[in-house]
Order: sequence, then structure tokens, then C-alpha cells
Amino acid sequence: MAAKHRKASSFWEMDEARRDPPRTCAVSGKRMYSNEREANATAAHRMTDRESAPVQLRTYKCLYCGAWHLTSKDA
Ligand SMILES: [Zn+2]
Repeated sequence: MAAKHRKASSFWEMDEARRDPPRTCAVSGKRMYSNEREANATAAHRMTDRESAPVQLRTYKCLYCGAWHLTSKDA
């Protein structure tokens, strides 16, 4: 692939938005993850993101939608 046009930043932002469909839980309104691993990976990523508030996240399986969610609440 030739790298003639170096607009990598906007390109990736668009790509990220495109492949990230807004699937949210009808009950909790939280982002849905199809499995625990995906939820954990996202939680780990978020907890190391210094741009946002440092929070402790944990994952749980939703009883209503069957998907995994992240929560910052203590157990
Ligand atoms: Zn749910």
C-alpha cells in the first residue's frame, strides 16, 4: 500500500466510528459487549486512558440483554 496521502488520523477516526455500531442495552443504556474478554479488554484500555477520569471498572453479564457491560460501581 502506497502512503501518498498521509491523512492517517482522520482516516482511522472514520474507520473506528464505522466499525463501532452503537449497540446499547435497552435496560441499562450501557454499551454491549458480546463476551467477557471484549468487555475486559475495553475496561483495561479505559483504565489506562489518562485523558479520561481514572476509574476502576469491572465487567458483568447483564441479566436483561445477555451481553456484557462495564460498570464503575463497587460490587
Ligand atoms: Zn444489558
